[in-house]
Amino acid sequence: MKPVLMFTIATILCLSGLWFGWRADTQLHIWIFDVGQGDGIFIRTPSGLTILVDGGPGDAVLSELGSTLPPWVHELDVVVLTHPHADHYEGLFEIVDRYEVGMFLVPEVCEYDSVSQELLEKVNFENVKLVYVSQEVGVSMVSGGDLCVLSVSIYGDFGESRDRSDVNGCSLVVSVEYGTFHALLTGDLTQSGEESLLKSEWRSNVRAVDVLKAGHHCSHTSSGESFLRMASPELAICSVGADNSFGHPHKEILERFDALGLEYLRTDEWGTIEIVSDGNEWWIED
Ligand SMILES: [Zn+2]
Repeated sequence: MKPVLMFTIATILCLSGLWFGWRADTQLHIWIFDVGQGDGIFIRTPSGLTILVDGGPGDAVLSELGSTLPPWVHELDVVVLTHPHADHYEGLFEIVDRYEVGMFLVPEVCEYDSVSQELLEKVNFENVKLVYVSQEVGVSMVSGGDLCVLSVSIYGDFGESRDRSDVNGCSLVVSVEYGTFHALLTGDLTQSGEESLLKSEWRSNVRAVDVLKAGHHCSHTSSGESFLRMASPELAICSVGADNSFGHPHKEILERFDALGLEYLRTDEWGTIEIVSDGNEWWIED
């Protein structure tokens, strides 16, 4: 694999966080929203940067964001679409309509269906900076002053034998580090993508994970044993809808978590889960 180039947009994003007037509390917050059967994850860095990773199905993400953000905040610094499946992008149409988005990150190699192409056209129409993340170009953001690092990259298996219809496999992976705290969000990355990640120079991003948003709603297509052993998260989170038609989370993955001694939580049982870290300790907010 070619080396991953990174660019840093720390200063701009740090300033924008201040402009938005949202008082920072020097803690990192990660909300795994309960958006039903899909992903919608909101991050606020200690200095106040706002990052939305996926928009879930329907528009549940709007009410979740509305009850999390102060009413005067109508801006998001960064939106990440991990991959173009409806359970990750549907809510982003309304997000782009209602929020001023600073930057919109998407995977370069994915096959975009007609609806997700409409979303990208909408992003362009709204003059949002659209960044395609590739294997050659990842994105690393340092939230100024607080040393909170957010990295977005892509690891899927893109060899000659690649199944181009495997949209899950091109999921962007988001790593969030603050002090000794580390969270990893893998979209719907498949087990072969997890293996590619373990072989990459970003392998170190898999170590010492505190919180893992487990891949593909805890389907058996993700959360391979070697990946889980390397990541060894203190907590895995399954972002799933109650009684979903896919049978997520799959029983064998929950049994794998149990066998490896990994704690896990499910959004269909817990609702939205808020993780907070001061850079040393981390906890689940009541
Ligand atoms: Zn999904």
